[in-house]
Amino acid sequence: MEIAYYSLFFILGTIFGSFFNVVGLRVPKGKSFTTDRSYCPNCQKQLTWYELIPILSYLFQAGKCRGCGKTIGKLYPTLELLTGLFFALSYWRFDLTMELVLSLIVVSLAIIIIVTDYTYTLIPNKILLFFLPILIIARIVTPLNPWWSPIVGSMTGFGLLLLIIIVSKGGMGAGDMKYFAVLGIVFGFPNILLVFFLSTLYGAVINIGLLALKKVTRKSKVPFGPYISFAALTVLFFGEQIINWYLSLI
Ligand SMILES: [Zn+2]
Repeated sequence: MEIAYYSLFFILGTIFGSFFNVVGLRVPKGKSFTTDRSYCPNCQKQLTWYELIPILSYLFQAGKCRGCGKTIGKLYPTLELLTGLFFALSYWRFDLTMELVLSLIVVSLAIIIIVTDYTYTLIPNKILLFFLPILIIARIVTPLNPWWSPIVGSMTGFGLLLLIIIVSKGGMGAGDMKYFAVLGIVFGFPNILLVFFLSTLYGAVINIGLLALKKVTRKSKVPFGPYISFAALTVLFFGEQIINWYLSLI
C-alpha cells in the first residue's frame, strides 16, 4: 500500500506544481490566476485539458506550444516534477500526521517563491502574507518545543538578514528578509540558523559554478529566494539527520 500513497502524493504534487507555476507567474503581475483559463503567454492560445497534464504534456509536445511553436520554458516541467518529489518526500518524512499538512504548505510556499524570484527577482508580499497566517495556525496545531521557538526563530531570521542587508549594502533584499521571518515560524530556533547556513552554502557553490561557466558576471543580480527555498526544504526533510551528523563530529 505504501507505493500507492507515494504515487498519490507524487501525482498530487505535479498537479499542484502546475498550479504554483501559474500563481508564481501571474501574482507579481497583478493578474488573476483563478478566473482566467490557462493560456500560452506568447500567442494567448487557450490550453485544452490534454495540454495541461503536468510533465506529460510538455514531453508529448516536445517542449513547444501547439499553437505557435514557441519553446516552453523548462522551468514549468522541472517545478512540476520537483513539487511531485517534495510532496512524496513529505509523506515519507511525516506519514499521515498533522506535520504532513504543514510540510505540504511549506513546499507550496517554497515552490511559488522559486517561480517568482527566478522569473522576476521578486518575493511578493502578497504571497508571504497569504501563507503567514496559515503557517502560524499550522504551527499552533503542531507546536515546537519550547513553545517560544517559532517566535525567536522568526525574529532571528529577520534580524540576521537585516544585519546582512545593512553590512552588504544590497547583497540580499527585503523580500529575502521577510521570507526568512516567515520560515522562522516553521523551523523555530535554532533550526532557522541551519536554513540560513545552507542557503548561503547553496548560493555560494552555485554562484561560483555559474561564474566559472561565465553564465553570470560578478555584477549580475542573482535571485537568492530559490536558495532559501531549497535550504528550507532540505531542513524540512533532513534537518534531524544533518544535526545528528554534525553532533557526531564534535
Ligand atoms: Zn503559443
